[in-house]
Amino acid sequence: MLHAGKLYLVPTPIGNLEDITLRALRILKEVDYILAEDTRQTGKLLAHYQISNTLKPFHAHNEHKTIQHIIEDLKSGKTIAQVSDAGTPGISDPGFLLARACQENEIQIDCLPGPTAFVPALVKSGFPCDEFSFIGFLPEKKGRQTALKSLAVETRTCILYESPHRLLKTLQQLLEFLGEDRPLSVSRELTKLFEETVNGTCKSVLEYFTNKPIKGEFVIVIGHQK
Ligand code: SAM
Repeated sequence: MLHAGKLYLVPTPIGNLEDITLRALRILKEVDYILAEDTRQTGKLLAHYQISNTLKPFHAHNEHKTIQHIIEDLKSGKTIAQVSDAGTPGISDPGFLLARACQENEIQIDCLPGPTAFVPALVKSGFPCDEFSFIGFLPEKKGRQTALKSLAVETRTCILYESPHRLLKTLQQLLEFLGEDRPLSVSRELTKLFEETVNGTCKSVLEYFTNKPIKGEFVIVIGHQK
């Protein structure tokens, strides 16, 4: 039996506050409550659009504990929106466990189309986007070498997320495992004032970011060996 409640997965801007759909704004207004990764961060977005609704915390540290209660609310007919701090929930962010629980409990889910960082980085790179592999964050320790080795033999365009304090280490390891001539495109601060995309090879992109302050958020796109 399909339940009356519904979960809405709502993408939010990755920088530029204009990047939110009319439908997303309406859903955020209309649902019974909003699950937010960081209620303060989402509170600022809601204030910007003069939306008042109840925010409840839903993040990596409490998602296991709270899912059963959320499922009960949905079964009782409530409508709930889930947002992450930025971009699409479930994409390197909480979302998957709740979506899976809804599928298992025959609860309807709408995932609204909207902002996510990897699509603009991929499309801007100029690398083939007919087939690609989204990796997200590389494992920090266990499994990192294995992941780097599989990138070395990957023939599709690959996409990584990276934080500013690990960017140089990752670029150095990409050079080591993939070779200095492998095509690379690094996009930082997408949709923001200092948006920048650096295209080149593992060697030239590493040189570009060496010895300069590394600020912002980064997407690394790896082309395949020519
Ligand atoms: N859910 C988000 C999405 O749909 O893209 C991703 C969240 S993940 C925790 C955060 C990572 O996404 C950052 O470390 C960075 O790699 C990437 N990212 C998010 N916003 C970005 C931006 N404006 N420019 C470049 N990369 C960004």
